[in-house]
Order: sequence, then structure tokens, then C-alpha cells
Amino acid sequence: MSSTSTPKVGFVSLGCPKALVDSEQILTQLRAEGYDTAKSYDGADLVIVNTCGFIDSAVKESLDAIGEALNENGKVIVTGCLGGKKDSSGDDIVHKVHPKVLAVTGPHALGEVMDAVHLHLPKPHEPFLDLVPPQGVKLTPKHYAYLKISEGCNHRCSFCIIPSLRGDLVSRPIAEVMLEAENLFKAGVKELLVISQDTSAYGVDVKFRTGFWNGKPVRTHMTDLVRSLGELAKAHDAWVRLHYVYPYPHVDEVIPMMNGGHVLPYLDVPLQHAHPDVLKRMKRPASGEKNIERIRAWRAACPDITIRSTFIAGFPGETEEEFQYLLDFLQEAQIDRLGCFAYSPVEGAAANEIAAPISDDIREERRARVMQMQATISRQRLQAKVGKRMRVLIDQFDRTGAVARSPADAPEIDGVVYVKRPYDPSRTLKVGEFIDVTITAADAHDLWASAD
Ligand code: SF4
Repeated sequence: MSSTSTPKVGFVSLGCPKALVDSEQILTQLRAEGYDTAKSYDGADLVIVNTCGFIDSAVKESLDAIGEALNENGKVIVTGCLGGKKDSSGDDIVHKVHPKVLAVTGPHALGEVMDAVHLHLPKPHEPFLDLVPPQGVKLTPKHYAYLKISEGCNHRCSFCIIPSLRGDLVSRPIAEVMLEAENLFKAGVKELLVISQDTSAYGVDVKFRTGFWNGKPVRTHMTDLVRSLGELAKAHDAWVRLHYVYPYPHVDEVIPMMNGGHVLPYLDVPLQHAHPDVLKRMKRPASGEKNIERIRAWRAACPDITIRSTFIAGFPGETEEEFQYLLDFLQEAQIDRLGCFAYSPVEGAAANEIAAPISDDIREERRARVMQMQATISRQRLQAKVGKRMRVLIDQFDRTGAVARSPADAPEIDGVVYVKRPYDPSRTLKVGEFIDVTITAADAHDLWASAD
């Protein structure tokens, strides 16, 4: 335990980018109130574990992390998706496995987490508000950051328990979102990743209320948000990338904004399947949309657009014909970046009641068939980039040169661009710097390039 007078809090952050943003908000608040953060368990007076509860392996990882924090430190507060989960008798799962945990909250519960911290580790007398930079405390590298625009979800996809963990959609006021974006850009962020459970639905809960930004009226609506973020990104020479966009018609209005170089020509659209009956059983948002036509129209309006999507293979009741329909769709759609998961029966999800589960072997075999097909598509699409010039953002350096990302590559989930030495010896490249490159080679995932 720490012996200094400033109380120190250790932090373990697990889960998706949305959980990461929750962690950043808690850390920002701790710092604002004068708490220090500790890098090791034994340097901490108390440990907060932000958990994930989405699939069984994430639950196990979270419970293990809590166990480790209890063994190593003893004073533990748990927050996040697993914290919101109850078992069939209504008891919270975390306390059942780890009764010594001091407090448990669900996700997005800054106030409750801080109440628990105040109770078990009283805050220092004088809050050092000026210690917090205006952009808050970020866990991502300095040059990119996630911008969470809303919390919760109004949909009820049958395989998902997020709405029961995080509640219905609550959009953040547009002025607050824009202010956070501006602070991040001013602090040196070069790429802002817009996240939510459903970015296309931004503002639905507040009936697209009009707010104000820079003295001008702006609706709490995806189109206005993207336009305003694009203007801000242009002023700061930065990128904006859109995640979790459902293919509703109004998304078409956003596509032309991607031709200007600041709102990236990149759309992360989680489609999950292609067959209309499977989509209906999944209760997917926008399941009636004609996705092939939409993708064609997007590519016509913005020829450089990169489309990323995720799919589920082996959803309960999926027939071989329905699966084949998905493969045919993927062949036609030529999606640039694709993730495919074998269906995982999340406890409490309605999908488990829909039909008899598909066997593990078939689920896995179907996932492998999707990924095999995608490897060929991806290789061909990346090969077509050889010889092209593009702007990339440097993430880090390795033995051979700079490791960067192009507009087509989101951090962590997509590929990278290896920019090989030698570059012009008079140039000192830095992490977070944009450079122009020419693509020299490609495989099924990554690109290689030389600096112009
Ligand atoms: S859109 Fe569907 S999958 Fe996504 S969070 Fe909402 S209910 Fe879950």
C-alpha cells in the first residue's frame, strides 16, 4: 500500500472501446479530485476494475482480473458490463464469485463509482482541478482518441444483451460532444474515432433537438454531427472515423462528406448477416434495407470508401442455404475489412430460444469458410492499391521503419502500412505525424510503402 498522503487508485480496464471511454471518464474525475493513479497493485490504496460481460470468455477474464486485484491489493471496486449482470436468482454475479469486493456498479456509472471511491478512500482535502488537462485523461496513445456520442441502445437484437446492461439510447448533447472533440484536437489528437452502440441513431431519443456550436444551431443528428466534426478536423488537420453505423437512408447524406479528406472514407457497418430471414430472427436494425444497392451507391458517391463489417456464422436455425446466401452476398459486396464470429450463445440472450443451436463444429466450419473467402477478396482489394499514393498516420516505429495506418485502417482492428526505411535522411518522423507514401506491396491484411 502507498504510504504517501495523496491517495492512489490502481485501474484495470477491460472490454470494448465504449468501456475504455468509461475508464477515461473515471480516471479524469479521479485526477480532477486530486487522486493519483498507481501503476502497480502494491502502490495502490484501492483498485478499480472496469469489466466486460459480453461473452463467456470476457466474463471469465473479468472475474480472473477481479480475483487477481483482490489477492494483490485487497480493496477492489468493480464497474462495467459484468457489474450490471445478475444471475437467474437476481444476485449480482461479481459479489457471488468475489464477496470481498467493496462495491459493484454497472457500466457508465461515473457517479456511483466515485461515491464508492469516496466511501472507501476519502478524497484529499483540496481538489487540484488544474491538474486535469481540458481533454481529460486518455488511455489511447496521444494522437488518436475515441469520442463516445451516446450510451445504450433502443434496438433489441436477439443475440445481444447490451440494452439490458446499458439501457436505452441516451445521446450526449451535441455541444458537449463538439467541445470534447475540440479539446482533443487542441491537445494534439490527429484521429477521432466516433463510437456508440448505433451511431446512425444519434439524437433519436431527444427528437434531434437543436443545440448550438460556435454560435450556430446544430441538430443532435448524425448528419449535423459529422459535418461539424469534419469542419473541426479540417481546422486542426486531423481525421474523423465513423464506427457502428447502421445502413439507414440518412447515412447516404454523410457519404459525400467523405470526399474532403477529413471525414475519412471509411464506414464500419455491422451487418451480421445477409439473409432476410436470419436478419429478422436476429431482430437487426435496418434489416429491411437493400444493403447491396446501398453499398453500390456509397461506392459510386465516394469511390475510395472502405467498408468494414462484422458477421455471425451459425446463428440458431441458420440453414446451409441461408449460409450460402451470406457467402454469395459477400462475394458480391466485396467488403474491404471483415470480421466473422461463430455464434456464441450469450447467457440471457433471446436468440438462444429461437431454434436448436447449430453444433460447435458447423459454426466454426462456417466461420472458417467466410474467412477463407474474405482472405481472397481482401488480398485482391489490397493488391489494387499497389502503386497508389496515399496519406498515412504514423502509430509507432519498428526495426524496418514506421508503422502507420491509412484512411482504410482503424486502430487495433484493421491492417497497417509498413513504411520502410530509408526515407529522406533529413526528415525526422514522429508518432502522430501524417506522411505521404506510395504503396509498393500488399498481402491479405497489410500494405508496404515507401515515403514520398
Ligand atoms: S444494435 Fe443490436 S447488437 Fe448493437 S447494441 Fe443494440 S441490441 Fe446490441
